[in-house]
Amino acid sequence: MFEQMDKDYVLHTYARNYVNFKQGQNATLFDENGKDYIDFTSGIGVVSVGHGNSRLATALYEQAKNLIHTSNLFLIEPQALLAKKIKELSKMDVRLFFANSGAEANEGAIKLARKYGQKEFKNKRFKVLTLEHSFHGRTITTVKATGQSSFHKSDFAPYPDGFSYHEQIQNLISAIDEETVAVMIELVQGEGGVNPLDKKAVQNLAKTLKEKKLLLIVDEVQTGVYRSGEFLASHLYEIVPDIITLAKGLAGGVPIGAFLTTHKDIFEPGDHGSTFGGNFLSTKAGIEVLNILEAYKQSGELDKTCNYFVQELHKIVKNNPKYFINELGLGLMRGVRCKDEEVLKKMIIIGFDAGVLLLRSGRNTLRFLPPLTITKEEIDEGFKRLQYAIDSFM
Ligand SMILES: *Cc1c(COP(=O)(O)O)cnc(C)c1O
Repeated sequence: MFEQMDKDYVLHTYARNYVNFKQGQNATLFDENGKDYIDFTSGIGVVSVGHGNSRLATALYEQAKNLIHTSNLFLIEPQALLAKKIKELSKMDVRLFFANSGAEANEGAIKLARKYGQKEFKNKRFKVLTLEHSFHGRTITTVKATGQSSFHKSDFAPYPDGFSYHEQIQNLISAIDEETVAVMIELVQGEGGVNPLDKKAVQNLAKTLKEKKLLLIVDEVQTGVYRSGEFLASHLYEIVPDIITLAKGLAGGVPIGAFLTTHKDIFEPGDHGSTFGGNFLSTKAGIEVLNILEAYKQSGELDKTCNYFVQELHKIVKNNPKYFINELGLGLMRGVRCKDEEVLKKMIIIGFDAGVLLLRSGRNTLRFLPPLTITKEEIDEGFKRLQYAIDSFM
């Protein structure tokens, strides 16, 4: 009934699976028939503190009873608190802007870079260089920044000027011209196949950009908020970017986006804004999520979970050499390169039937983005079901 309703009234932009989830508990989801699924996707890296998290639910309820929204024309106490919290966790000297999604966070970052390019140079610099296989969003500008030509359909042309994408991180430096103002990268390409960039090459790029007074924008929409095992993947890479964007895991599923920048005085009142961005509800959620995850990291539990997940993933890859090539990724953002794209698609479908939710990334990468709070038992059960799925169709 709801499937038909969805088909009749919602535009067909997704290839949906019509399971009807009713409830969740940490990394386990239950559908309308009571069947349970181990969630190795967390809503594409969003449900960082798990489904049905009672601390997050209580914080949302307490906030919603008082205020959900008043607009950015007035002080928003939890927005100020969340900005302070992110600044401290980032260990950087930054200020923040709050939006509602990853694409919007990146749009804001691009606007700031362009104004910087206007203010700081005699001849305005405006070009933003990105990498092949990158993903930066679905708005007309961020889709243009995305380095996958399949996204640049002529149906939606014309696209904004000032973007070009490049094959290798080593190619970016030589691509800098007198119009270039910034380079935007993901440290681990999420949608493009779970590809971690080379640390030395990233550090070299960061240094070169700094020397030229050009900006490094790091899109941590997926890698940020402890997904990499650290608060920021930038910490692992030991770089201090000019702008970092965040979104997915930041508020545990409540829509939010943000960027932080060391360039605190480029934007002036009126330069940028958002009706919903940073409102009471989403920023309260962000504070609660960060409080939960900071304690989880400090106690050593996050590292233990990452290690255990990787150990079990390693076993399954080793036990199935017929289908898997190698493992990639950081923290709880993991990929397994598969030999055959069609087998991978089938594996995800049969895994679903066996009660484990899996993602595909790029062309032939099996991707894992579990809730950061996934338990040992859930990890064991998820991999057991995945092995069962593999055994049952091969
Ligand atoms: C998901 C994602 C985005 C887009 O975020 P939305 O919230 O869907 O707009 C941008 N960049 C990266 C790296 C992402 O993973």
